Amino acid sequence: MLIENVSDFDADGWRWPHFTPRELACHCGGRFCAGEYWHAPDFLDALEALRADAGQPLIVNSGHRCAIWNSYVGGARFSLHRAMAVDISLAWHDRHMLLAAAEQHGFTGLGLAKTFLHLDRRPRPARWFYPGSETSWRT
Ligand SMILES: [Zn+2]
Repeated sequence: MLIENVSDFDADGWRWPHFTPRELACHCGGRFCAGEYWHAPDFLDALEALRADAGQPLIVNSGHRCAIWNSYVGGARFSLHRAMAVDISLAWHDRHMLLAAAEQHGFTGLGLAKTFLHLDRRPRPARWFYPGSETSWRT
């Protein structure tokens, strides 16, 4: 569900203690939108479950993106960041453990970058590397 301005979002009953609507909203900083946010409870349930497994903070580099911000940062035209997807920083995490846990918790779009893990929930599972990221995932 698209919220045009995250400040207008009624967060009463928010049940995902490790995340806030603001950190999952567009990070363009008001340049191209008023703070778009996409509310998806199922996605948040999976993210919170992953956070519990990881046992440490999941830093969201990128969550929802407004249209202009998405193209500005080089996102795919039909990127799930236009609805809800997250890029989680890999700092402080064992990347392989985080990947396995993400898969276990129902994330089906798995983008393996050098410094972050992209997660989304799509009907047909997909897993990919970003240019130059493959070696960082070899152990
Ligand atoms: Zn924006």
